[in-house]
Amino acid sequence: MLVEFLAERGLELSDEKTVITHIDDGFDFLGFNIRKFKGVLLTQPSKKCVKKFLDGIRYTIDSNKSCKQETLIRLLNPKITGWANYYRCGASSKTFQRVDDQIFRKLWQWAKRRHPKKGKPWVLKKYFHHYKNRNWRFLVVLNKNGKEDIFPLKLAFETKIMRHKKIVSEANPFDREWKEYFEERMTYKMLISLKGRKSLLYMWNKQERKCPICGQEITAETQWNVREKKVSGQTVRYLVHDKCYKQNR
Ligand SMILES: [Zn+2]
Repeated sequence: MLVEFLAERGLELSDEKTVITHIDDGFDFLGFNIRKFKGVLLTQPSKKCVKKFLDGIRYTIDSNKSCKQETLIRLLNPKITGWANYYRCGASSKTFQRVDDQIFRKLWQWAKRRHPKKGKPWVLKKYFHHYKNRNWRFLVVLNKNGKEDIFPLKLAFETKIMRHKKIVSEANPFDREWKEYFEERMTYKMLISLKGRKSLLYMWNKQERKCPICGQEITAETQWNVREKKVSGQTVRYLVHDKCYKQNR
């Protein structure tokens, strides 16, 4: 009752601390920050999660000071793509660009340190190249059976744009291949609507914040999703770790 009363007035009971927060100020929910800005609901990766992601990237770069450029790209790419995929629906392009910019700065530092006696233009030319309408992409040219193969560091921004294009041109709810994608859209829809968020919180608490498959907690640090199950003709929705769902399908 109280929750509904408050919701109508744009107020919410924060689940964890039971402090009243105004939706304009926003709140964090499983790694997303949700707030209203000029009347529009925005979901963004929370600042804490962006920082944690970048800390992890910096750590990987710092712990691989002398490895081959190709190796570093192989280490970083799955991290960048994984993170960007998790947030592709919720985050603005600005967040993705900012993240890419921070990674670039760190890699530039990494590259300069390897060649203290060389000038900046030399270092730049060795590690960064023009690729797909962008300057200074961190990439290597591999030689596969006499054929040149460009292997670039992934951009978070690129992941977002690519997903968006795919949605527009290829998405079809009746296509089995796209089933998973629409399930994720359902999560997103729930995340942006007030009613949806309340039922997410409800599910989360009802499950005692645990994943029904592995029994471990669902937190901001674990990738999660809403899934559906038919139980004696009724559709039941539940929160589950992405990893667990994929393994048990
Ligand atoms: Zn699980």
